[in-house]
This record gives sequence, structure tokens and C-alpha cells, in this order.
Amino acid sequence: MPMGGTSVKLPTIGWVKTYEGTTTTTTTKLTISRIADEWYIAFAYEVDCVESHSTHEVVGVDVGVKELATLSTGVVFANPKAYKKNIQKLKRLSKAHAQKAKGSSNRHKSKIKLARHHAKVSNIRKDSLHKLTNHLCKNHAVIVIEDLSVSGMMQNHKLAQSIADCGFYEFKRQLEYKCKKYGCTLIVADRWYPSSKICSSCGHKKESLSLSERVYVCDKCGHTLDRDLNAAINLSRRALA
Ligand SMILES: [Zn+2]
Repeated sequence: MPMGGTSVKLPTIGWVKTYEGTTTTTTTKLTISRIADEWYIAFAYEVDCVESHSTHEVVGVDVGVKELATLSTGVVFANPKAYKKNIQKLKRLSKAHAQKAKGSSNRHKSKIKLARHHAKVSNIRKDSLHKLTNHLCKNHAVIVIEDLSVSGMMQNHKLAQSIADCGFYEFKRQLEYKCKKYGCTLIVADRWYPSSKICSSCGHKKESLSLSERVYVCDKCGHTLDRDLNAAINLSRRALA
């Protein structure tokens, strides 16, 4: 099916306009779905794949509270600004919805509004994770992440919130299939590995490190580094462990 610019030619329906611009290409695989009262189209097409597991073979990824992710290469992926704003709006809409009388047309309207906004927030999250996982799989041969799919981690409410927001399962899911596609290896460090507490310079381990300490300062050698970067570097070394 031909497509390009802001239109797609669908079988039996013909040309339809799209909200976002699309690549000029032809596709044989597309999926049309409806979420809330909006229609979505997903399609696959082929691109020339450039193999470039360049300078840094191994990369460690620290999924953070402050940032979406910090890589051992020094690259930082920030949380999308739109995300926080939209989460707040989501809370507001859901509260407003709960207050509408059951069976009323106002309740029906607010339900659609809420569902539409849910879809929007989930799209922002997925999009930022796709950018991150694309970068990782296109630039590195070995990717090391922490296992955050643990209920024990959830004892810390602040951290739990951040992990839930970043969508660890979605992050891992994307990494798994993209690693297959690009031929990378994914290593999931075991959950007890104290990546934040170890000094990436001398290997000394701190007894404790609170979440509010944003900079790692080693008690032994004095090495000072951004907390998340220190953790990411430690993770990258797990590839050799
Ligand atoms: Zn040290």
C-alpha cells in the first residue's frame, strides 16, 4: 500500500489523511486500531540497516529517578517534559470523572476524555523508551541493565514511582526484541548487585547511600562522580564478570 506525507492508501477505503507525517514508502503490513475514540495506524517498512557497534562495545544503563536513563558512555536520556505535565492532567481528569453522576451524559463524555488522555500519556512513555532502546541497540553490542522487576525494590516509594513511570517491563520488552534484530546481547545484572554503592574507580563499597545523594564520593579514594553515571559504569563492567 502506498503512503507518504500525510496520507495513506488503505485497501477498499482509499486515501485517508494522517495527523502525523509519514515516510514515503510502500508497505504490505499495517494494523489499524482504535483507542478511546481515535484511530491509529501502525505499519512496517524496510530500511537499509547500517551495522555500527562502534566505539563502545559494552554499555551499562542506569534507569534513574531524576533522568530516564544514564549510560556508562556519559549519554543521558532525560525524562520527557511533557510526561510529568500530562501525568498531572491525568490525575485531574480521573478525579473529575469519579465525581460525575453515574449514567449521565457528562460521565460518558468525561470517560472518553480520560481514555483519550490515557492513550496520550502511554504514547509519550513508549516513544521516549523507543528512542532510548534504539540508541542502545544501534550503537552497542552488549547492553547491561539492572533487574528492576522486583517487589523488594518497591519498598522505596519514590523509586517505585519512577520505575513504574519509566515502564521497566516495556523497556525490557523493547530491548529484547531489538537486541535480536540488531544482534546485540542483553545482560540483566542480578537484583542484589549494588551498582550504586560501589566506587567505579577503586571498587570500594559504601555501607549506605541515600537516594538524595546525587553525587558519589568515595570514602576510600575520594573519586567523585555523578551517582547515576557511577552506577552505569559499574553495570557495564558486569559484562566481563
Ligand atoms: Zn574509590
